[in-house]
Amino acid sequence: MNVLELQHLKKYYATHKAVDDISFSIPKGSIFGLLGPNGAGKTTLLRMITGIFYPDAGEILFDGRPFDPRNDIQYIGYMPEERGLYKKMKVGEQVMYLAQLKGLSAQEARQKIDYWFSRFEITSWANKKIEELSKGMQQKVQFISTIMHQPKLLILDEPFSGLDPINSQLIQDEIFQLAKSGTTIIFSTHRMEQVEEICDHIVLVNKGRKVLDGPVKQIRQDFKHHLYRIGLD
Ligand code: ATP
Repeated sequence: MNVLELQHLKKYYATHKAVDDISFSIPKGSIFGLLGPNGAGKTTLLRMITGIFYPDAGEILFDGRPFDPRNDIQYIGYMPEERGLYKKMKVGEQVMYLAQLKGLSAQEARQKIDYWFSRFEITSWANKKIEELSKGMQQKVQFISTIMHQPKLLILDEPFSGLDPINSQLIQDEIFQLAKSGTTIIFSTHRMEQVEEICDHIVLVNKGRKVLDGPVKQIRQDFKHHLYRIGLD
């Protein structure tokens, strides 16, 4: 069963073809790597999958139905590369606010905040302002905010950038845990070694076009050849 199917998606910025006829499917529960060099079209693809942009052409199916951003957005968690936290808000208030935006009641949000803050060892930060935190700490707060409402589809754009090895491992373990419990994960990066370590499926894009996709185990050799060709190995 595919959670997401992209069919012949296109997105142009004026005449520039940022995404040019890309199709692929994402199986439920997979950790799906979206890999490509800078400017490949990854962010543009993610913005269409999260309903921020409408495609110029093509179709997105979510759970087998045409994707309807107004309704389906509640099932999606998106951690963009440019993090979206409010610098002047306190950490606890920020996460509470984002959780309620995603439909959690104050009581549900409070329980989840207690659980996740303790698990990520950030309980003592709750009253600090976001701007007082390092980039890595903000990343942990953003990750928690993204998974609080238990999305069916979790989209992570460069989730490890700015994180030290211990916190990278913490988030990586959580990604595996979420996938085991049925969450589908899209992991966007230009770092090949992360994809090999974490993902079970991949799609490689370059200059707005799909180069190849499939289960990592089956396409590893072709994949390396193409990465070398486009200078990403
Ligand atoms: P990066 O990893 O650098 O973010 P990416 O793979 O996410 O790259 P996109 O950000 O989707 O790539 O950009 C794809 C192409 O579209 C690039 O050539 C980029 O310069 C161009 N582009 C992106 N946003 C705009 C925009 N708002 N207006 C015009 N061109 C854009």
